[in-house]
Amino acid sequence: MKFSDRIQRVKPSPTLAVTAMAAQLQSQGIDVIGFGSGEPDFDTPQNIKEAAIKAINSGKTKYTPSGGIPELKEAVVKKFKRDNNLEYQLSEVIINCGGKHSFYNLIQVIIDDGDEVIIPSPYWVSYPDMVLLAGGKPVFIETDISTGFKIKPQQLEQKITSKTKAVVINSPSNPTGAAYTRHELEELARVLEDKDLIIISDDIYETIVYDGFKFFNIANISEKIKEKTIVLNGVSKTYAMTGWRIGYAAGNSDIIKKMDILQGQSTSNPTTISQWAAVEALSGDQSVLDHMLVAFDRRRNFVVDGLNNIPGLKCYKPEGAFYAFPDCSEVYKLKGWSKVSEKYKDDYKSSSLCAYLMEEARTAVVPGIGFGNDNYFRISFATSDEKLKEGLKRIKEAIEKLV
Ligand code: GLU
Repeated sequence: MKFSDRIQRVKPSPTLAVTAMAAQLQSQGIDVIGFGSGEPDFDTPQNIKEAAIKAINSGKTKYTPSGGIPELKEAVVKKFKRDNNLEYQLSEVIINCGGKHSFYNLIQVIIDDGDEVIIPSPYWVSYPDMVLLAGGKPVFIETDISTGFKIKPQQLEQKITSKTKAVVINSPSNPTGAAYTRHELEELARVLEDKDLIIISDDIYETIVYDGFKFFNIANISEKIKEKTIVLNGVSKTYAMTGWRIGYAAGNSDIIKKMDILQGQSTSNPTTISQWAAVEALSGDQSVLDHMLVAFDRRRNFVVDGLNNIPGLKCYKPEGAFYAFPDCSEVYKLKGWSKVSEKYKDDYKSSSLCAYLMEEARTAVVPGIGFGNDNYFRISFATSDEKLKEGLKRIKEAIEKLV
């Protein structure tokens, strides 16, 4: 079978692959602790579930307009005003089948062959592949612990060419948790203000921030910046609604209209029932988020301290999201490492390390190479305190065996 060139540019999603592998082992009765996918362990709040049940019982189970129901667009507009002080018209909003789908649709409608998309690295695993799928070229800006995983204005300036079509800002970031302050975004905005490009602001972790960090969107800086920014968000992470698949995008109405056309010729509307549930999520009681944040913060401190106590690991304390992203480059220098690399023979060290942790520690973590840097791995701490405690103990024991 000769597959399309397009699909051959894309590799399987490593976050989903690790999660699937852990689930498969668990189904065989093997005690694997899953730190793979970024999915809150909390149940979807009751008021949201009830809104979905009400939708089913009142017959809201048919097609909707492909770009989403007006009631949900309205709730999104109100959310932007309430939480972000950003004003949008309904024509500037579209509802998609998850935040991932919002990014996908946007890239499909703006990227042509050879167009460049600037992506700060480490990056979320699917950004480059979605750009490649569209025929575009991902252009990375490298960051590391020394700069808190944030890009500097000069780095951004250097990467912009006549082919640059878009720049991705993902704050707080998956996988690093780095979140940009207002001042840092102002500096980046100064570089971007007069450039003919689109800013993609992926805000999916907006509400998951710690130590009083104040989330800020680059679109708030000036009208000029807002005009070139498409804001992406969704209900998955904030309201523990990953499986409901509701994301949304806001910005230039011409771009939104094209995304709607694409959606109308591919998925059609996001699930009707989920849309009604999302209306409740965005408009209902927002205090449901408080207890999740307290738990995430407690787990963040526990995981970062725990990882920093393991030989060879160095972990930055994230400002947001629910991922720890330890630097494991020193593990590759430990005495026992050669046995690990001989045994797993993977092209990438972080993949060998994760395979070793899966086998030896029965813990599923995602190799850093999937996020663009082989010197790291990712742990999602959106899981119970007990699992984190046991998982970290196992990782520590496994790595100590290499010392
Ligand atoms: N975004 C989440 C993660 O990074 C969910 C899985 C995915 O779609 O990548 O784990």
